[in-house]
Amino acid sequence: MSMAPDQSMRGFLAALEAAGDLHRVDRQVDPRFEIASVMALRERGPAQLFANVVGHAMPVVGNLYNSRERFARALGIPVCELDAHCLAALRRPIKPVIVDAAPVQEMVHMAPLDVGALMPVPHWFEKEASPYITAGVIVAKDPETGRRNVSIARLRLEGGTRLMAGIAKNHHLAIMAEKARRLGRDLEIAIAVGNNAAVLLGSQLYLDLGDDEFDNAGALLGAPVELVKCRTVDVEVPAHAEIVIEGVLRPDDLIEEGPVSEFPGFYVNYGPGIGVEVTCVTHRADAIYQAILPGYAAEHCLLGAVAIGTTLTRDLQRAIPAVRRVFITDGGMGRLHAVVTMHRPRLGEGKRAVLMAMGCVNLLKLVVVVEDDVDPEDWRQVEWSLAARFRAHEDLIVLPGVKADRCDPVHEDLVVTKVGMVATTRPGDGEAGGRSEFVRPPIDIYERVRSELDLY
Ligand code: MN
Repeated sequence: MSMAPDQSMRGFLAALEAAGDLHRVDRQVDPRFEIASVMALRERGPAQLFANVVGHAMPVVGNLYNSRERFARALGIPVCELDAHCLAALRRPIKPVIVDAAPVQEMVHMAPLDVGALMPVPHWFEKEASPYITAGVIVAKDPETGRRNVSIARLRLEGGTRLMAGIAKNHHLAIMAEKARRLGRDLEIAIAVGNNAAVLLGSQLYLDLGDDEFDNAGALLGAPVELVKCRTVDVEVPAHAEIVIEGVLRPDDLIEEGPVSEFPGFYVNYGPGIGVEVTCVTHRADAIYQAILPGYAAEHCLLGAVAIGTTLTRDLQRAIPAVRRVFITDGGMGRLHAVVTMHRPRLGEGKRAVLMAMGCVNLLKLVVVVEDDVDPEDWRQVEWSLAARFRAHEDLIVLPGVKADRCDPVHEDLVVTKVGMVATTRPGDGEAGGRSEFVRPPIDIYERVRSELDLY
């Protein structure tokens, strides 16, 4: 007998609290920069529940999924299985189901309304013009095909029912907004806040346009995601979310954004975002607002890292069977640096993996390839590989003038120099009598001691 998995965020909050991993801040906090400060100072620690927010009855939870261990725990799997679980979710999707009654619709507020009065949206950084919703999972349907898309984009409060959506140009939601603009239409959307880990992670996977991220979220969850129809738009949202904001994207309504934080930890100027007109807000009677600290912060970086790592593992393995794992590093902001592990690659295969990784993911600019006897999550071991197996004159690839992502902190005219370092074994390495035979005592004694180690 198996129990249906919990589809909410609050089930995991209860589990964290029971384990002592949810820190409750009872002191009154101001959503204007004070929540941001606490979350930044406790970026990697326990999740933070702000119970007493100035001007709001609704609490805020932050730093919820700020480690791979936290994500794995939320999905009910050991952390060593997280990559395989995400890969399986890409390969074996489970379609969502529609339900009639939903906790997220316990309370219904029809426009006119003030989004900023209904929920405590933090104002994050000094030079940003106003508060941003940062954990808003946006659901929309392609105006041409009707196919659903689920993704996250930043949403800035513009007062009352107005928001600004900042969407990367290559994201499916931006493509769908552009299709709507050419058809002379608005694009109906719904924004779910306070989501289960499966929905949040699923929304970040790199899929094809037309693929429904809820199918993969279901696979991550291990059950169909339960969706409910919105009240004012033809869109379905997770029934067990905390809050849903319904509205329309207005592709012709451009709002100049000004400086906004990005994952490198700097301000950037992206130009105009797209206006959103909110038509309705629904939420649980005791809703909890989820906030993800933007900028160079653990949770923000990790969301991208898991998605890129999963996609690249799939894509590289398809072409190069020796590839075992792609790990996107935290120091590389969860976007720019990858460590690829390979098992006994043939000559030149490591370089091919470097080129493919950079070809598949525009963001990547440093790819280090190591043997699969090295833990890519442990930089000490990666560095050991560079010291032990890397010959710079032939294992270093330097590619100047490659198209860069606009987020890259050091791009010039949108190009950047990309670097690959291949630190794998070569045929013959590690074998007895070979040029890099590992030192050890005689194997019979060593293995006997290993099997009886507790006796020593
Ligand atoms: Mn998509």
